[in-house]
Amino acid sequence: MIRAILFDLDNTLYPASSGLDREIDRRMTVFTARYLGISEQEAHLLRKTDARRHGTTLQWLREVYGFHDIEEYIVEVHPQNVSSFLSYDPRLAEMLSQLPYPKAILTNSPIEHAERVLECLKVRFYFDAVLDIRFNQFRGKPYPEAYRQAAHMLGTRIEEVLFIDDLPPYLTAFKALGGHPLLVDEEGKHTDVGIPSIPTVLDLPVYLEKITS
Ligand SMILES: [Mg+2]
Repeated sequence: MIRAILFDLDNTLYPASSGLDREIDRRMTVFTARYLGISEQEAHLLRKTDARRHGTTLQWLREVYGFHDIEEYIVEVHPQNVSSFLSYDPRLAEMLSQLPYPKAILTNSPIEHAERVLECLKVRFYFDAVLDIRFNQFRGKPYPEAYRQAAHMLGTRIEEVLFIDDLPPYLTAFKALGGHPLLVDEEGKHTDVGIPSIPTVLDLPVYLEKITS
């Protein structure tokens, strides 16, 4: 039984093909390379391997390299001009307005970025809460506490929450806690992860109808 829905933000509420998340990823690599004094190629590789164990690049830099200028990092890696990447699609607001569940955002991004994106997509109104990386003391997804806190904010138990995200590791961790995971897989790249998927968040009502009927 599903009683609440938890949404990722980047590449979930808007398509990966917008390029916004790719730009953030590029900026994280540039920042990492400069901070560690290595090439961007090396930084990219380390981010996709070593950093993964720490949840986010920021947390990895903090825990392994003693990085502490969190505000500088946040400002530098998140573009102000999200509207250059995103286009407003009225179908998203319409879909959210018709979902009869409490809804929250769980993102590993900072709130400034989340608010810019939600404003650009004109959907902030539909979410009861936006839980960002600071809310989770920089230990966001895939740490169990992040999901527990989110379920608590939604006034329900993890077992009754549907969580929609574009990254399989975050969904696998959620599933391990007993929740209902749903993958947004725009290009159909993850057919082997054992998690149900839809190509776009706009297909959420169809999916819900299928599993609740
Ligand atoms: Mg995402």
